[in-house]
Amino acid sequence: MFEPELLRRVLATALERGGDFAEVYVEDSHALGISLDDDKIERVSAGHDRGVGVRVVVGEATGYAYADDLSETQLLEAARAARAIASSAVPVTVADLRRIPPGYEHQIRIAPESASEREKAELLRRSNAAARAAGPEVRQVSVRYGEARQRVQIANSEGLLVEDERRAVQLNVGVTALRDGRLQTANRARGGQTGLEVFAGEVPEALGREAARVAIELLDAVPAPAGRMPVVITNGWGAVLFHEAVGHGLEADHIVHQSSVYAGRLGQQVANPAVTLVDDATIRNHRGSYRFDDEGTPAQRTVLVDAGTLVGFMSDRKSAAKLGMPCSGNGRRQSFQHLPVPRMSNLCIEPGHATREAIIADTPRGLYVVSIGGGMVEPARGEFVFSVTEAYLIEQGRIGRPVRGATLAGDSFRVLADIDAVADDFALDPGMGNCGKLGQWVPVGVGQPTLRVREMLVGGTG
Ligand SMILES: [Zn+2]
Repeated sequence: MFEPELLRRVLATALERGGDFAEVYVEDSHALGISLDDDKIERVSAGHDRGVGVRVVVGEATGYAYADDLSETQLLEAARAARAIASSAVPVTVADLRRIPPGYEHQIRIAPESASEREKAELLRRSNAAARAAGPEVRQVSVRYGEARQRVQIANSEGLLVEDERRAVQLNVGVTALRDGRLQTANRARGGQTGLEVFAGEVPEALGREAARVAIELLDAVPAPAGRMPVVITNGWGAVLFHEAVGHGLEADHIVHQSSVYAGRLGQQVANPAVTLVDDATIRNHRGSYRFDDEGTPAQRTVLVDAGTLVGFMSDRKSAAKLGMPCSGNGRRQSFQHLPVPRMSNLCIEPGHATREAIIADTPRGLYVVSIGGGMVEPARGEFVFSVTEAYLIEQGRIGRPVRGATLAGDSFRVLADIDAVADDFALDPGMGNCGKLGQWVPVGVGQPTLRVREMLVGGTG
């Protein structure tokens, strides 16, 4: 990371021909991946990326240039390339840089870099052995370990200077079970912005056993029912449905471009009063958190829907200025090679007052969804279809048989408006989420309590 004096010189070079704003983004990232398939440690990938991106804003125009080298020459070169859009003869004076301290710290007890790759490979072997011991139906076990450490330094012509460190570790187990020619797969994962303490005790074994148990149980699954019915979505990872179907529509660039069903609805009731939706980048140790976003704005908890009323959006500097709203600190980028865009951090539905048991008991017939897989959202109208990877029938107010082959279809506006019961059992996801937007991937989190959507279109063959 660089001394303030050099960063200020880079910013001054970037604004030498005028401009409204300049920014330097410095990044130093390490990543490690280990996988296990067919009982063998198959691949160890390790990477180290570093570089700098310089942005110059002149009116509506943005200049951006990056260099994958952190030498002073390259920094100044990037600044000169980014300012090519500017043509004034009068240089802009850059404010003195003031360092802003982070608002909180993550607790990291066992730094991943303190353990050897052999010790990490052992975590995968333990998950694999536990999954294989779960029953003769277990055919295939895949385990993935990943860790990442990204250090960033951001300075801008308004005098801001911040540093942040983001981390990630994760262990994912996928188990395929086979019986009578029928295959079923289940996954379990654990991770976060933590150290290796998140895998302490029997965690690797528990992930393997649980994934195997569910894959074997799904072998007895009945074909999913088809038609409109109530859908109860489990706490934690279930919120990925709302990330995809609702959250993206609350990112401020979609509001600016009128490409969201929520454009023009600020202050309107968009959900049941039991529903409060927030984006919270300040959850300690969770995957989608940061202390500063990738423009240096301090992270915050942003209320999007307050007791059913639409009250906010997730913005970066540019979209916030266009909307005339304060920036919410959601400007994120995959790396120094990318411009920031508005992105979710940890999208959460707050807990309500019902209980999970009461919601299920109050549902004569429906679908209980534990895990949602891939899907598609048509952005302008908000129509979506998701595959369901783990679900159960609700029959006479009880969770019954597992189902296979279910899909969930609906539209973004209705799915939020149709939440009619919210339990008190809030949980965060296990910490393995990634979100893609405009070709950029960033780690994200989700969280929610068990909740019920009054009616969704379930696709199935039963
Ligand atoms: Zn997403």
